[in-house]
Amino acid sequence: MRTLVCRTDPRKPSAKAVDAAADAIMNGRLVVFPTETVYGIGANAFDEDACRKIYEVKGRASDNPLIVHVQNVDDALKLGRISKEHVAVLEHIWPGPLTVIVKSRGILPGTVTAGLRSVAIRCPEGKFIQELLKRTGLPIAAPSANISAKPSSTKGEHAIGYFKGKVDVIIDGGESYYGIESTIFDLRSLRILRPGAFTPEQIEKAFGKRPILGKLAEGTASAGHVISPGTKYKHYSPETPLFVYAGDMKDMRSMLETFGSKAAFIGSTESCSLLKGTGLRLLSLGPSDNAQERVHRLFDKLIELDSFGVDFGVIEAFPAKGLGYAAMNRLRKASSHRSFSNIKQLQELLEQV
Ligand code: AMP
Ligand code: MG
Repeated sequence: MRTLVCRTDPRKPSAKAVDAAADAIMNGRLVVFPTETVYGIGANAFDEDACRKIYEVKGRASDNPLIVHVQNVDDALKLGRISKEHVAVLEHIWPGPLTVIVKSRGILPGTVTAGLRSVAIRCPEGKFIQELLKRTGLPIAAPSANISAKPSSTKGEHAIGYFKGKVDVIIDGGESYYGIESTIFDLRSLRILRPGAFTPEQIEKAFGKRPILGKLAEGTASAGHVISPGTKYKHYSPETPLFVYAGDMKDMRSMLETFGSKAAFIGSTESCSLLKGTGLRLLSLGPSDNAQERVHRLFDKLIELDSFGVDFGVIEAFPAKGLGYAAMNRLRKASSHRSFSNIKQLQELLEQV
């Protein structure tokens, strides 16, 4: 398939990019586009065949429903049932990186909701997707633009690498603002099903109640857990074996230096500095006092890790608060729950790869 790649400033989308994307969506085709969280791969949410193509192209399991993007709360109310009290909160916090799970009105095809009685809805803030929603007048079903199990795209080049030749249009809008997916919040139970760019602290402030955090949000729920179907699949994983380091950074150098260029380390600028001169491949996420920047670069560095051909990568754990809470959910999955805090544990992990 010939893919039209259109570059544009995501804060000031060109008419050409919006026209090309809107034309494709209205004609049952797929478009990969930037949002403020990560890139999405979208189709007209009312078009069952187009939505089925999203699953095919991503290699996504058919029981893993799609998030539906809308222009505003009124359009969300056409698709799902939301209490007056929650409508008032959503009016306040949307557009933004919070997806809500609500009871479905049953007007979307079963392909979108994977046959569930609920639907995931979000009103995104990214200017490009906003323009696209306005121009098409349609709800747009769009999961993250990655091949299933791989890290999400946070740059146009990631999306092009995954989808050139597989979708009709790719809008390259440079780097995503957050670099991590939206938070999925079940409005029926006030439970976070997937932490993301809208933090638990922000939910508590907006809804006046502390959200329920549990094994799903942590990313430690056992396979087969079905409240949020997507959570049971492998996710965000580079090809290179990845281990999370949860110990003291002062011990890292002595543990890793013998591996030299056979291993890579991903961590804060300060932590990378401690490992200079070891020959290790160092991937800096940014300053340790700037969690937003480190989260913003996380998927990019996980994708870059695979370009080195190293035997394994180690990533420094994030403090599990604010955006770091969401980052740790991704890291547990990206590493297939492999973490260590001393050399003995690292050796055990290496024996298993
Ligand atoms: P993605 O857009 O690729 O980041 O994935 C969307 C996530 O939303 C997946 O983990 C889905 O399982 C989840 N999701 C979508 N619809 C629902 C729903 N009705 N109930 C629970 N989770 C959902
Ligand atoms: Mg995804």
